[in-house]
Amino acid sequence: MQVIQSTKLANVCYEIRGPVLEEAMRLEAAGHRILKLNTGNPAIFGFECPPEILEDMLRNVGDAHGYGDAKGLLSARRAVVQHYETKGIELSVEDVYLGNGVSELIQMSMQALLDDGDEVLVPAPDYPLWTASVSLAGGTAVHYRCDEQADWMPDLADIERKVTDRTKALVIINPNNPTGAVYSDEMLRGLTEIARRHNLIVCSDEIYDKILYDGVTHTPTAAIAPDLLTLTFNGLSKAYRVAGYRSGWMAVCGPKAHAESYIEGLTILANMRLCANMPAQHAVATALGGRQSINDLVLPGGRLLEQRDVAHEMLTRIPGVTCVKPKGALYAFPRLDPKVYKIKDDRQMVLDLLRAEKIMVVHGTGFNWPEPDHFRLVTLPNAKDLAEAVTRIGDFLEGYAQ
Ligand code: PLP
Repeated sequence: MQVIQSTKLANVCYEIRGPVLEEAMRLEAAGHRILKLNTGNPAIFGFECPPEILEDMLRNVGDAHGYGDAKGLLSARRAVVQHYETKGIELSVEDVYLGNGVSELIQMSMQALLDDGDEVLVPAPDYPLWTASVSLAGGTAVHYRCDEQADWMPDLADIERKVTDRTKALVIINPNNPTGAVYSDEMLRGLTEIARRHNLIVCSDEIYDKILYDGVTHTPTAAIAPDLLTLTFNGLSKAYRVAGYRSGWMAVCGPKAHAESYIEGLTILANMRLCANMPAQHAVATALGGRQSINDLVLPGGRLLEQRDVAHEMLTRIPGVTCVKPKGALYAFPRLDPKVYKIKDDRQMVLDLLRAEKIMVVHGTGFNWPEPDHFRLVTLPNAKDLAEAVTRIGDFLEGYAQ
C-alpha cells in the first residue's frame, strides 16, 4: 500500500527550502560551489555569536540537560517582561512562552486558534511560514497587498475589503521579510484600528526589530494598541546571530479576559512539546540586557548597512530592475520589469539562475506574491561577494531579457 502524505499538507508550502534547494544540493554533491542567498542565516556568512551569549550558554549547559518549564525558564521570561516594560508594554511572566525559534511559536499560535475554514489576514508578500502555518492549522490565509509604490506599506483599504465573518487574526510582519519595510506609528495605528473594529487578534512578528537602517525606529504593535490582544514574536536568530540555537519567544499582550480559552489552548500546545531548548534559554536574559552588538553592524560603518547599500545600488543598476531600499531586516526584494523580462514562471527563472551562475535566490511567488516578477536575496554576504553575486545575476538577466 502506498504511504501518502496527509491532505492537511495540501496547501502547505515553504519555498525558501523547496525544490530549488534540492537542485542546489544536487549541484553541490556534483562538486559545484553554490552561493546560497536564500536563507537569513547570519552564521554562514561569517557573523559571530556575541561572546557573552556563547559564554552563558556554555556556563549553563551542564545544568540544562533536564526538561524545564513548558513556558520557559523563569529568568528568560522575566527578561522578556522587563524588555517590553521599557517599551511601555505591561506583561506578566505567565504571558510569555519560549519556543524552539519563533517558527514553533507561530505554528502553535495558529494551531490553537483556527477551525477549518477560519481566515487569517496575511501580508503579500509574506514570510511564508505564516501562510503555511495558517494552512496546516486548517485555516485559509487571505493575503492583503503591500504596495510597492508606497515603499511596501500595507494597503489598508485592501485589508478592510478582505475581512469576513470568518476572519480571526491579522498578521503584521514589521520590519518586513522580504521587503525590508518598517512601519510608522501611523501605519500601525491604521492596521490596529482595523483589528479593533473587527475583533481580530493581532499577530506581530518583530524578529527584525533591531535590524534597522538610516535612523528609522521600530515601535512594537502592542505599544500602539494596548487594548488589543496582540501576540508579539521575537527571538535570538537574527539580531543575535544564533539562528541555530533555536530560541524565540511569544508575548501575549493586552487584555486576556475574553481569550482565556485560547490561552489555555496555547498552554496545552506548549505542554505537549514539553519545553523549548533549555541551553539556549539561558542566553535570553543576557541577549536582552546590556549592550546590543547588532548596533555595530547596522549603524554607519557597520557591515550590514554597507551590504544593504551595495545590494541596493548594484541591483538598481541592472536594466529593468527596481528595488525599494530596505529600511530594515536582511533582504532585498527587487522587481523585474515585466516589459523587459517576460517571466512566466519565476521558480523556473531562479532554477535557471542557479544552474547558470550557481547562485541561489528565492522567487517572489514563494513569498505569496501574486505575480512572477520579483525575487529575494539576502544581504548577508560581505560587500565584495555581494557585489560579485549581483553582477552575475545582472549578466544572467541580460540573457533572460526579451
Ligand atoms: N519570522 C520571520 C519574519 C523570519 O524571517 C524568520 C526567519 O527567517 C522567522 C520568523 C523564524 O525565525 P526563528 O529562527 O526564530 O524560527
